[in-house]
Amino acid sequence: MNIVVKKKSAFKGLLLQENKITAKKPIEVLPVPEKVILPLQQSIGAPCEFMVKRGDTVRTGQKIADSGSYVSAPIHASISGIISRTVKILNPVTSTLMDAVIIESDGKDQWIEVKKLFDIKGSDNFPELIKIIDSIEKKEIIKKIREAGIVGLGGATFPTHVKLNPPPDKKIDTLILNGCECEPFITSDHRSMLENGREVLMGLYIISKILSPKNIYIAIEDNKEDAIRHLEELMKEMGFGSIFKIVSLESRYPMGAEKTLIKTIVGRTVPIGGLPMDVGVIMNNVATSKSVYEAVIESRPLIDRVVTVTGAVENPKNLLARLGTAIGYLIESCGKVESGVNYIIVGGPMMGISIVDTDFPVTKGINCILVRKSRIQVEQNCINCGRCVNICPMKLMPLAYVRYTKRGSFETCREYYIENCIECGSCAYVCPANIPIVGYIKTCKSLLLKTSS
Ligand code: SF4
Ligand code: SF4
Repeated sequence: MNIVVKKKSAFKGLLLQENKITAKKPIEVLPVPEKVILPLQQSIGAPCEFMVKRGDTVRTGQKIADSGSYVSAPIHASISGIISRTVKILNPVTSTLMDAVIIESDGKDQWIEVKKLFDIKGSDNFPELIKIIDSIEKKEIIKKIREAGIVGLGGATFPTHVKLNPPPDKKIDTLILNGCECEPFITSDHRSMLENGREVLMGLYIISKILSPKNIYIAIEDNKEDAIRHLEELMKEMGFGSIFKIVSLESRYPMGAEKTLIKTIVGRTVPIGGLPMDVGVIMNNVATSKSVYEAVIESRPLIDRVVTVTGAVENPKNLLARLGTAIGYLIESCGKVESGVNYIIVGGPMMGISIVDTDFPVTKGINCILVRKSRIQVEQNCINCGRCVNICPMKLMPLAYVRYTKRGSFETCREYYIENCIECGSCAYVCPANIPIVGYIKTCKSLLLKTSS
């Protein structure tokens, strides 16, 4: 028995309406678009610099931008064709302009040469694959992950080669694969676990070879019973039954946030301003794990990802889309949009951000496109009801952040540990005064960042 059932979470959390309407929809491959727009910043850290210029021809998988900074991840052409332009586009998260490359497709999708060390779809010879993985040096694995441009695909976009190379003083004893997907509507990871379970588990094995942790957990909420059973079966088949443990967790928001998940599974508290590695833990998302497998065994760079397109569309789907594809193209492929729709969220309804431009491209961190009809919500004054404080999984004071940000007292917010906020949106969700608390928090954090840099 490789399943540990955790009935209690380490925080109060929200029981949200799940709306996982695409949970049973297999991943569909979206046709290659006529053009892609690839921003040069798709990860935490330094933006990349152009390695191509207007008029150059490129092949799918070719590196087109990179950075000399350690904390960054290269960008690859997601289609083959011609570099038609370099442009500036608005980053909806930071509201700043970023450089981007436009590739016009040649209609051929011609790939760079890639050397597959094993065909996981065509062979069950897992001992052979494990032998191959065991023969690759740790340094080489990390290099392959970096070169493939892998970042945290759960939305955090932290470069994976950095995460998997903790400083020597950080002793890692626990590795967690995060398959919680706790936000309503999103099902991209759920489908990846069901349809790409082999790659996901082999990716986890590769990561475990780098870190050599004592404990390896696969965290899945209990609303994904089929994924739990499927991975358990696969673990037995692939020989991981005694190495990995599945932890079945109650479906409670925000279970999948790193800090709440670590507290729930291993009972450790990540310090304010700290990282999971400070408490001996490294966590990766399931889609990242699959990409790690592809990078190391198939030399395949990150050029596509699974995106759930859902909400007020005729036929919601899970789509495997090339990075750089316009969000509007994904929405169109899901049929008619209901009348009255007036906003689009990238990400889930709790942590996602609203965008206005449907030409904005799918980037590495986008796991969901949620088409919605907005409710008009008028912000009212805080009534000091304390609900936001009561629900906060990080035991913070959200109402204070609203008050002090409005007054311009950003440093006071820092004294109230605003930097420990994980921006889960639970406080805003329960606020009876409709105060967009996370908006105030984000504004304050970005101003604090500007003044300290
Ligand atoms: S203050 Fe931050 S961590 Fe706490 S509920 Fe609000 S968004 Fe979540
Ligand atoms: S939930 Fe809203 S109204 Fe209540 S204390 Fe918090 S910010 Fe104020």
